[in-house]
Amino acid sequence: MTFSDFNFKETLNQAISDAGFKEPSPVQADAIPLILEGHDLIGQAQTGTGKTAAFGLPIIQQMSGNKGVEALVIVPTRELAMQVSDELFRFGKTAGLKTATVYGGTAYNKQIDRINQANIIVATPGRLQDLLKSNRITINPSFVVLDEADEMLDMGFLEEIKNIFTYLPAERQTLMFSATMPKQIKILAEKILKSPKSVTITKSERTNTDITQLFYVVADYERDDALLRLIDYKNPNKCIIFCRMKKEVDRLSSYMTAQGFKVAALHGDMEQKQREHTIRSFKQGLVEIFIATDVAARGLDVNDVSHVFNYHIPFDSESYVHRIGRTGRAGNKGEAITLVSPNELRTIKRIEKDVGTVMVSEVIPTRQEVQSRKDGDLLSKIANTKVSTSAKEMVKTLQHDLDIVTIAHLLATIVQEEIDVKGKDIIGLGSEEVKALIERAKNWKGGDRNGGGRGRSRNRSRGGDRRGGGGRGRDGDRRGGGNRESRNGGGNRGSRNGGNRNRD
Ligand code: ADP
Ligand code: MG
Repeated sequence: MTFSDFNFKETLNQAISDAGFKEPSPVQADAIPLILEGHDLIGQAQTGTGKTAAFGLPIIQQMSGNKGVEALVIVPTRELAMQVSDELFRFGKTAGLKTATVYGGTAYNKQIDRINQANIIVATPGRLQDLLKSNRITINPSFVVLDEADEMLDMGFLEEIKNIFTYLPAERQTLMFSATMPKQIKILAEKILKSPKSVTITKSERTNTDITQLFYVVADYERDDALLRLIDYKNPNKCIIFCRMKKEVDRLSSYMTAQGFKVAALHGDMEQKQREHTIRSFKQGLVEIFIATDVAARGLDVNDVSHVFNYHIPFDSESYVHRIGRTGRAGNKGEAITLVSPNELRTIKRIEKDVGTVMVSEVIPTRQEVQSRKDGDLLSKIANTKVSTSAKEMVKTLQHDLDIVTIAHLLATIVQEEIDVKGKDIIGLGSEEVKALIERAKNWKGGDRNGGGRGRSRNRSRGGDRRGGGGRGRDGDRRGGGNRESRNGGGNRGSRNGGNRNRD
């Protein structure tokens, strides 16, 4: 099946191909035709299966674009609101559709202005109810979507949702998406949907997702060391470290920063602006390590997260599924790593049973293992590095006077200094600069350097770590690692004993 089978308008096909979507995901293949026929729908599928486009595309296809807010999407969190509206904007912009995002914690007036100009709004329940109740906005959407309905239930939004529907027109197409179908969601569905069709995507159909799930048994006092060791060893492209509490997020991010890692923290107490900024810098790859609480990372859609670390195993199975679902997205492979103390092994068993998955036990790598993995990485990096002509010339010139080992050593030192201090790349050096370098190299005695402004080096050993840990040389370019062979896919969601969640 291809997207052209849906006979979308040209503008929409354009947007789909701009987004790089080649073929519909299973939930899209099933849901889109039903939505185009005008049915109400209940869609049950896990995160990362492409639900946003599953409802977004057929809604946009059916929108006229000239009657105010024509589509309303309700989502549980601010992050999801931004994410879903970004995705819908992508699909709608070729048809000139405007989207607005509506959530708490920001000024009303600007938001209301945006709503009044929008064709599609994506809202969290609290703020939306607020605006409707106080008559600040009146909307008449022909399409209403409840996304992540079970999350909204967990977060205690059921009453808000019911109330919001009293302000919506009876004549509408309503779609509801949920990863699980607890009883209260079924009851809600009977209330708000009219003879809905249903689409269920089970685990086995999640062919594009592959998350290896590992756990490591550690004593409580070893958690920090174990985590850093694993990060060194796994060398993640981008990773999220989950903590149970904000306090832990703060502590761990100070600790890791002090250890020379570049991390960003995300939790519910942060100001909206700061959260957005943090998420953006993670998406853009400016920060590679993200430390977050569950609520902060709800639905977070960053496609290239190679590893998820559970600093502590989450209390309930459902948040485990949510957490690990941050990796292995959009057809990528991912690894989910959980640290447990011996008395948490029972929790592992319970989650495995609830989720229908297997977590594989592994042992924290030794210092030697970390080192040899890194040496291997370095060797392959060297093998894959193109050597510039200027660098070759320089080596040739120096060979008149010096042996090759000395040349390698001093170039590594001097060139690194050049890069650190001047932000320069050897490849970008002009011939005058190369000459100057050669002069410096010839006069270099070795051993007489006093650190030469190498700035904050991450390449130092962590004293006192009884497992060593050695130097954590973290090379500039750290693509590659991470994607290991798969062992088992995600799994069904199981028990729901939703802990105390932060609400929007
Ligand atoms: P869900 O809501 O089910 O968790 P999303 O709608 O957030 O999933 O989609 C997950 C990611 O997959 C997004 O980055 C989205 O752009 C991408 N995606 C969705 N559908 C497709 C598709 N048909 N082809 C390629 N990528 C897709
Ligand atoms: Mg979604």
